[in-house]
Amino acid sequence: MHEYGIVSNLIRVALDRLAQEAVSEVVYVEFEFGEFLFVDPENATMAYESLTRGTILENSELRIRVLPGKIQCLSCGYVGKAELPDKDHLHFSDHLLVCPNCSASPRIIQGLECSITQMEVIVA
Ligand SMILES: [Zn+2]
Repeated sequence: MHEYGIVSNLIRVALDRLAQEAVSEVVYVEFEFGEFLFVDPENATMAYESLTRGTILENSELRIRVLPGKIQCLSCGYVGKAELPDKDHLHFSDHLLVCPNCSASPRIIQGLECSITQMEVIVA
């Protein structure tokens, strides 16, 4: 389950930010994932719950936003959404994406991002 790695990095960033303020409680945290990271929200939430145990983020709500992916095809010039292969074969990789126009293997121009977009905290 690759969500653990991604979620754990974002939690580290969030904890670093929170350490600089007198936060007594975190209400929610919003993570944004690029579509081509193929993050499963259920797995991400499970990872979040287990990785935040014992930290200030424990019991905060995780909100997830997915940023639509975008590709550029170098062989036909197409720019836009990618054709996704069978969902069972999705994983942390781009080599299965194909151009809907010519089926060539495209370049990803958006969809691999992961960041913290929002946090609501209660300051002590
Ligand atoms: Zn193409």
